[in-house]
Amino acid sequence: MSKHFFTALALASAATVFAQGGGPDHPSVTVHGQVYTPRSILARNMGSTDDQTTQFPPHKIIGNIYYVGTKTLSSFLIVTPQGDILMNSTYERNVPVIQKSVSDLGFKFSDVKILLGNHAHGDHQEGDAAVKQLTGAQVVAMAEDLDALKAIKPGGKEHPVDRVIHDGDSVSLGGTTLVAHLTAGHTPGCTTWTTKVRDGGKDYNVVFHCSYRAGNTISPDAARQFERTFKVVRALPCDVPLGDHGAQYNMQEKYAKLKPGAPNPFIDKANCNLETDIQEAMFKATLAEQSAPKTQ
Ligand SMILES: [Zn+2]
Repeated sequence: MSKHFFTALALASAATVFAQGGGPDHPSVTVHGQVYTPRSILARNMGSTDDQTTQFPPHKIIGNIYYVGTKTLSSFLIVTPQGDILMNSTYERNVPVIQKSVSDLGFKFSDVKILLGNHAHGDHQEGDAAVKQLTGAQVVAMAEDLDALKAIKPGGKEHPVDRVIHDGDSVSLGGTTLVAHLTAGHTPGCTTWTTKVRDGGKDYNVVFHCSYRAGNTISPDAARQFERTFKVVRALPCDVPLGDHGAQYNMQEKYAKLKPGAPNPFIDKANCNLETDIQEAMFKATLAEQSAPKTQ
């Protein structure tokens, strides 16, 4: 077993993951010709320790939306004339990496006025207090994730929360509006954000997907949440699918296709539900395995 595997294991947030050793190798599901197991999905999402903390080349995605995250943990910068919105601080130790990406793009980290997150796990929101300290940004949190967020206290720092939102609420700055959709399951307040951008004279719907990965055992409550979530997500208008791990939207492959004059690879309506298909198939297979009669 590789060193990377153990590192990914050590950093994964779900207690079930610890218990299962990086996720079990069953059930396996085949979605659009690819085979997935809980273990392979986790390895794909997290990569190595280095992948989680190494700057990925910051780049424009579309309109006023930029990628400022690491190789496997997404952070997005949404730039407006009245200041900027940052989504996902990721690990606290990544905040300087994000800061560097923002300035590499020619923007100022001190212009970040609002901090959003996809879900209350350390690999996405541990750095909130550090971002707040550096920028004074307003930290926005979905009500259902508050308890989990408050428990994320790197170095004993209180987790800042300035505005509590609910399903369907919106966040606006400088002419950009993001709408928060409660897509619970992975965490109780898992939030999928949507916005519209104009690029090259056309309008596009952008979806910042939360993680929809179910645990290795699914409680009845979580099952109900996921059933609702998959329906909600599939109903969202979408031209540009993004996700809180780059692998959820094939970020690295798309980035490699970015060329002047070429079509924008991030416009990918056909794959808006690819990650949802994978996670829903795994969810159903896990439920089926869970309810199958046990053989002694
Ligand atoms: Zn998570």
